[in-house]
Amino acid sequence: MNIILIGAPGAGKGTQAKILEQKYGMVQLSTGDMLRAAVKAGTPLGLEAKSIMEAGKLVPDALMVNLIKERIAQADCAKGFILDGFPRTVAQAEALDNMLAEQGKSLDKVIELKVDEAALIERVSGRFTCAKCGEGYHDKFKPTQKAGLCDKCGGTELSRRKDDNAETMKTRLKAFNEQTAPILPYYRQKGLLVSIDGMANMSVVTKAIEEIMCASS
Ligand code: AMP
Repeated sequence: MNIILIGAPGAGKGTQAKILEQKYGMVQLSTGDMLRAAVKAGTPLGLEAKSIMEAGKLVPDALMVNLIKERIAQADCAKGFILDGFPRTVAQAEALDNMLAEQGKSLDKVIELKVDEAALIERVSGRFTCAKCGEGYHDKFKPTQKAGLCDKCGGTELSRRKDDNAETMKTRLKAFNEQTAPILPYYRQKGLLVSIDGMANMSVVTKAIEEIMCASS
């Protein structure tokens, strides 16, 4: 099964994609994670994307389409994939349709996670991760048991994303509302879009996604 999770920054796309990956062996395709890895590795793509990401703006479509096209063609994606953070513009959505058709693949569902703006800002500005094992935390909703120490692996390097702050969040939300939200009618028209309440707690959201996947399999 191939699905897209759509939602503003902090809507829970990454959290849910990781759960589905673990439970069903589907592959999480997070363009944000791919870009952060490219920035860390200092690749040409990373060098181009770094300042754009730090400003909370969108990386040019052509770069994103190339990135995802190569990744989706890899063998592991045949098991099914969850797109998390792509497409983010109508041009990306159209390019995705073309690349899937070329590769003999299709989308099963597009799931929108709806979350209030105030909750998005609170979620994003409090989150941090363990640099060693990737476990995610939140100052208010999921603090570490011991300050400065990852509960899962004992790692001591807990880091925050540079773009996870209230100021950059304004630009990221603007990008979502102006450039990403127009893809919702695009998928609604194709009969693929289902919207769910992303304000509910994590396991309730997972259950809602599973029900949608079940109904379309
Ligand atoms: P995310 O981790 O999904 O919040 O993405 C972090 C940042 O990476 C975004 O704010 C954008 O700058 C960039 N980015 C990720 N995915 C895309 C995409 N599909 N199109 C354009 N920019 C993207």
